[in-house]
Amino acid sequence: MSEDETLFERIIAGEIPADVVYQDDTTFAFRDIRPQARVHVLVVPRKRYRNVAELAAADPRLLGDVVATARKVAELEGILESGYRLVFNTDRDAGQTVFHVHAHVLGGEPLGLFGA
Ligand code: 5GP
Repeated sequence: MSEDETLFERIIAGEIPADVVYQDDTTFAFRDIRPQARVHVLVVPRKRYRNVAELAAADPRLLGDVVATARKVAELEGILESGYRLVFNTDRDAGQTVFHVHAHVLGGEPLGLFGA
């Protein structure tokens, strides 16, 4: 993998297999390989930004697309009524490991409260 290509760009390009849940012109959604809840889907913009802070500053409309796709995923997964959690881990202290902004869509069961 070149330095300029992230894991998620390779998944979007179909170079690495993934369980794709939804895609459109600007966003791409696939199941997390290590699910933390019954439903755990990652939503990424096709265009790469390092994290949600960069995305929000550079292209708030595209951030809106990511949030709208998360809603679509919740609908497709049947969790729109029961609810879901949307998480953007952002840099070191949040434990971000893949530096292509992604929203975690988590749900399908009660998730409990955040711990420290
Ligand atoms: P982060 O920790 O950066 O917020 O989230 C990265 C997520 O990517 C993790 O939840 C991890 O399980 C997931 N992940 C890492 N490698 C792969 C992979 O090759 N395929 C898929 N589908 N998910 C991955």
